[in-house]
Amino acid sequence: MNTSAPALEIKNLTKRYRNDVLALDGISFHVNRGDFYALLGPNGAGKSTTIGIICSLINKTAGEVNIYGKNIDYEFAEAKKMIGLVPQEFNFNSFEPIAEIVANQAGYYGIALAEARQRAEHVLNKLGLWEKKTDTPRQLSGGMKRRLMIARALVHDPQLLILDEPTAGVDIEIRRSMWKLLQDLNDDGRTIILTTHYLEEAEYLCKNVGIINQGKIIIDTSMRLLLDQLKKETFIFYLRDPLANIPRLDHGDTHKIDERTIEVTPNEHCTLNDIFTDLSQQNIAIVSMRNKANRLEELFIDLVMS
Ligand code: ADP
Repeated sequence: MNTSAPALEIKNLTKRYRNDVLALDGISFHVNRGDFYALLGPNGAGKSTTIGIICSLINKTAGEVNIYGKNIDYEFAEAKKMIGLVPQEFNFNSFEPIAEIVANQAGYYGIALAEARQRAEHVLNKLGLWEKKTDTPRQLSGGMKRRLMIARALVHDPQLLILDEPTAGVDIEIRRSMWKLLQDLNDDGRTIILTTHYLEEAEYLCKNVGIINQGKIIIDTSMRLLLDQLKKETFIFYLRDPLANIPRLDHGDTHKIDERTIEVTPNEHCTLNDIFTDLSQQNIAIVSMRNKANRLEELFIDLVMS
């Protein structure tokens, strides 16, 4: 294996669908080994097309894709082995026992049945599903089905795991446990790329981020630098007494959420201390406060709308 090549390298990738839609307009980016990379963008931006091409499910029009140094055109089988894909939709046979689902998947990678069964046991154990081995997907909870998708993607021990919206529509508890699982997989040295609509998820998990819009990469940077770009932060203040009117502050904008909750965005160069002073001058007592956790969301909207 080429030990210096990045986990994923995309050069001038173009996709024009038969209906003449230019879904990808010559994108280039790379993802280093061991990275946890978010691919973000609004609907129709080109994320699924990109993932489809990386996984050889969609033919590209032009450009180059290398996985751990293996070219998807010339070293197809080797490149394919390096990737585990967790698609958005459940696409397994709902009537097949889960241990068989996972073992059969290994068969697609040329792994003999006896070894495939061992591997299935290993990944199902790792994902806390082995005791359900004879159950069918229909018998699993939503969170377990998601883990089954991941187990199946891991059975051939890929170095690059790609997840398309892994937590779409799942409740907060399952989402948190998925985050923990994905972090563990990344800590084990696996490179992870995910697309998500939950920007909080990208902010929490990912080290680097690419934002795609209208078939072009418009941002490719570290999550930290991206967040630093957003100068303005918004805070939520929970107040002791109900407010009749929205207070006007000298050092920030306020927005009333309910009579005991306001949102405050300090003006540029103003500090939280200035805001506390403004509020106390108006005899407004604060019980608690938190940072409104949507900085990435705001930045994303700014980028895509501008
Ligand atoms: P995303 O995953 O970011 O929502 P997609 O990659 O699905 O974006 O879509 C990018 C563009 O390509 C969109 O304009 C979409 O309508 C178009 N598109 C996607 N799949 C097809 C297809 N099979 N045939 C024609 N156009 C497509």
